[in-house]
Amino acid sequence: MSNSDDVVAELSSKLLLGWCMLDAHCGECGSPLMRDRDNKNYCCGCKVYVNENRMPLREEAKRNEVPEEPFVAQNDRVSETNEYIKGLLESKMRSLAERLARTESMQESDEIIEVIKKCNSLKKELV
Ligand SMILES: [Zn+2]
Repeated sequence: MSNSDDVVAELSSKLLLGWCMLDAHCGECGSPLMRDRDNKNYCCGCKVYVNENRMPLREEAKRNEVPEEPFVAQNDRVSETNEYIKGLLESKMRSLAERLARTESMQESDEIIEVIKKCNSLKKELV
């Protein structure tokens, strides 16, 4: 299956992420298992999470048609999306501020300020 150098590389990269090595081995390939920060068990040989019977969850993932991607890549994509939304909110707030500067109406000013507040708190949630 996987060669041992590959397993060792996987192991050390996970250790750097703060995962801990378990005194257990994969039921399929026999590679050492690791536990991630969410207390899920991971096989360094199969490069997938394993269930409580130490069997890889790969088949399940295929059934649900979840793409097999490392967690890091998923996080990257989330933060990319967040950055994109933050950019949109910032330009929205800029145009709202310009509108606020132009309006003479107290009611419109109030409305604009409310929307800016909402954009701003949404932006903070995305950090
Ligand atoms: Zn395995």
